[in-house]
Amino acid sequence: MVTATVSDAEIAKAIAHELDRQQNQIELIASENIVSEDVLAAQGSVLTNKYAEGYPGRRYYGGCEHVDVVETIAIDRIKQLFGAEFANVQPHSGAQANQAVFLALLQPGDRIMGMSLAHGGHLTHGSPVTMSGKWFDVVSYEVEEYTHLIDMEAVRKVALETKPKLIVAGASAYPRHIDFAAFRAIADEVGAYLMVDMAHYAGLVAAGVYPNPVPHAHVVTSTTHKTLRGPRGGFILTNDEALAKKFNSAVFPGNQGGPLMHVIAAKAVAFGEALQPAFTDYAKQVIDNARALSEVLIEGGVDIVSGGTDCHMVLVDLRPKGVTGKATEAALERAGLTCNKNAIPFDPEKPFVTSGVRLGTSAGTTRGFGVAEFRKIGELIIKVINALADNPEGDDATEQAVLAEVRALCAAFPIYKG
Ligand code: PLP
Repeated sequence: MVTATVSDAEIAKAIAHELDRQQNQIELIASENIVSEDVLAAQGSVLTNKYAEGYPGRRYYGGCEHVDVVETIAIDRIKQLFGAEFANVQPHSGAQANQAVFLALLQPGDRIMGMSLAHGGHLTHGSPVTMSGKWFDVVSYEVEEYTHLIDMEAVRKVALETKPKLIVAGASAYPRHIDFAAFRAIADEVGAYLMVDMAHYAGLVAAGVYPNPVPHAHVVTSTTHKTLRGPRGGFILTNDEALAKKFNSAVFPGNQGGPLMHVIAAKAVAFGEALQPAFTDYAKQVIDNARALSEVLIEGGVDIVSGGTDCHMVLVDLRPKGVTGKATEAALERAGLTCNKNAIPFDPEKPFVTSGVRLGTSAGTTRGFGVAEFRKIGELIIKVINALADNPEGDDATEQAVLAEVRALCAAFPIYKG
């Protein structure tokens, strides 16, 4: 049983409540997923006790023979999954994977170019509130105003004008394929490194249903916990041996201390799961479900950024309904549908209000929802939004009726059946 072993009453209670929340709401946060009990077990194992600074076979502590086995398996599996020659599985998170790459390849003051946060990029791609924005000279590219697609000619123009030392491709809120080969051609033309942050798409890439950046980028970073369905964490891939050495030094000792060996074990388990044929079925279903959700939402009268999706993510433009992302997130939450408000490109609202919500299908697909369930979820979302459009406080009767339907769907597709 997933929560039975914690005897600290207060923490056990909070964990039980969280399990109950996860069981009984529909998780639509695009960056979340539901890991297997094997992943939970590995992460909750005695490996948490072990210090293992260094890398397999080259540690600064004794007693590392068993964690060496674990880390070597994790490295071998992730290389196999993405067709990469070198991997570092130690980054504690996606942000730390990105930070390690910056430390390895850049000096403070160097220029980097990333996708604007307001157009779907991640904070670590140059936002002024992060180390990337404080230590580097940041230039950004945006999506095209009417198609909401990355305009590669515009990217090339910014790159030629500003000559960045490193270009970041990858996003937190971009639902379409990214042309990694075109990014590499631009990087080569201006003499820049190309770093692809595939955090959101990694599981889809592993299953071969989203383009693989590894053959094109100098370096690929990722999280392990989004579509890839592993524990919270990060990793770095490259095909360049000299760069691989730099990334290893930048992760440890450059940026981190001891690796989290229990998390690396859980990563290894998740990578093993992602190598199974069933994972490809899951990844295909994630995209089919996102497309079905997107279609129903369009039928219900909202706009979808870029008109649809090629991945797990659906970005809803709520302006046709006259409601904000902030109010919609809260109303959906009251109805048992968890998501996050998200800026849409060229958003007239402030970042804490927004005109959009970001939805994702990974967690729902993992619990077994198919196209029929996601069409239903789309209809429920539209009901809540329509009620909100009629009454800015939200309509309690509608939200409670939707909540009852959410509970029924969740009961039919339980998580952690044991
Ligand atoms: N990169 C991208 C594209 C992301 O979307 C995220 C998280 O949302 C990160 C990096 C950061 O990952 P973490 O939260 O593990 O630091």
